[in-house]
Amino acid sequence: MEFKGQVIKSTGLWYQVRKEDGQMVDCRIVGKLKLKGIKSTNPVAVGDRVWCRMEDEEKALITEIEKRENYIIRRSTNLSKQTHIIAANIDQVFLLVTLTEPYTTTGFIDRFLITSGAYHIPAVLVFNKLDEHDEKLDMRLSEYLETYDKAGYECLQMSALKQINTDKIAQRMKNKTTLLAGHSGVGKSTFANAIQPGLDLKTAEVSQLHKQGKHTTTFAEMFPLDFGGFLIDTPGIKSFGVYDIEKKEISHYFPEMLKFLGDCKFNDCMHISEPHCAVRAAYENGQIAYTRYKNYLEIIEDDEGPYRVDIYA
Ligand code: GDP
Ligand code: ZN
Repeated sequence: MEFKGQVIKSTGLWYQVRKEDGQMVDCRIVGKLKLKGIKSTNPVAVGDRVWCRMEDEEKALITEIEKRENYIIRRSTNLSKQTHIIAANIDQVFLLVTLTEPYTTTGFIDRFLITSGAYHIPAVLVFNKLDEHDEKLDMRLSEYLETYDKAGYECLQMSALKQINTDKIAQRMKNKTTLLAGHSGVGKSTFANAIQPGLDLKTAEVSQLHKQGKHTTTFAEMFPLDFGGFLIDTPGIKSFGVYDIEKKEISHYFPEMLKFLGDCKFNDCMHISEPHCAVRAAYENGQIAYTRYKNYLEIIEDDEGPYRVDIYA
């Protein structure tokens, strides 16, 4: 008997596939199931939509993987060219940002947004720990909101701990597959536990985080949400990397720059100090925020392409 489902958990050898009626089936993969063009150590990833065939009463074989809408990868080790697919078919990523502890810089956010853009995953910024804000932090928050609003990103605000706005944000996740991202300690698990009672993801005091082992090999997992949709948790996965973005492409992932690119005099304009640069002009007119432009320059001056923007949480 054949059936269709989605991989929601993987241990490397076994895959838990959720059938369309919600039933879970343990699956293995048949022989060589490789997708063209992807050199990955794991042919099947969490989020993959698959076709399976029952092997006996309980267990099944994955026989086919549907084309992925998108996926996020990391290199298997620092030296190898092999990649590991962390998760696939993601509708949106919520980047949790805190201005208290841990502090999230605009440099980190902008690199993250380039990466999620290159992966074709819409990103939403979720500012957390608002309950800890004093006047000074509120002012900084306003600056961030203005910057990212102008850049065209949706910004939400909450306190996961005090459950302020968490229901409203959960509504934005309804019937979608959402990945939670952000530095360790920003409140990803606290938020997940608040919107899905019984989930029981581990939370940790920020001060305890650095004491944990740095290298935990865990797999991503998809959790069905009672109100509809899925949450992808990526415990222990610290990098969110993208490969082979050319230096000249970086500006394409700044939505507020994108609309000016056609107006630069030179086709290969890097928007640094070239004459008749429409991006630079837009920045000087206040249409592109200072930190965004500054971070853009920093990113392109960092290194030669082809580009790797690696995000470490
Ligand atoms: P994760 O590493 O992103 O999963 O972060 P955790 O959910 O483990 O949270 C790290 C710490 O921040 C814990 O001590 C939480 O109680 C605390 N925390 C999470 N959200 C909030 C919040 O909205 N306000 C405050 N004050 N603390 C929070
Ligand atoms: Zn230019």
